[in-house]
Amino acid sequence: MVIEDCLFCKIVAGEIPADIVHETEDTLAFRDINPQAPVHILIIPRKHIATINDLDDADQAIVGSLFTAARDIAAAEGLADDGYRVVMNCNEAAGQTVFHIHLHLLGGRRFGWPPG
Ligand code: AMP
Ligand code: ZN
Repeated sequence: MVIEDCLFCKIVAGEIPADIVHETEDTLAFRDINPQAPVHILIIPRKHIATINDLDDADQAIVGSLFTAARDIAAAEGLADDGYRVVMNCNEAAGQTVFHIHLHLLGGRRFGWPPG
């Protein structure tokens, strides 16, 4: 399902350009336009799901595919051994600004904990 006004649905549909680095049947991954680390990639489901709160139980395989994509991209980007961070924000208080779920894959520097 393509949601008309969803930026990431438009990237899935090829209507907006993106620096795509990885694709599977269920997922698409592209470089963040405003990177917060030397490597900052967004991994999204092709299916429109607005937030974690909107997940159906039937979406479990799709969510799993975001993580196996992260594993493969981290290896391809040379991050696997040193380490990297994956983050998914949910709703405004956590900083979600695009309401089509996406896993941030960040690497290439050290990260503090707890996050700000
Ligand atoms: P969040 O704040 O967790 O919803 O993350 C949204 C992310 O999408 C931010 O890191 C933005 O920099 C990124 N972003 C917004 N528009 C684009 C775009 N057209 N291409 C790539 N990344 C984008
Ligand atoms: Zn969408």
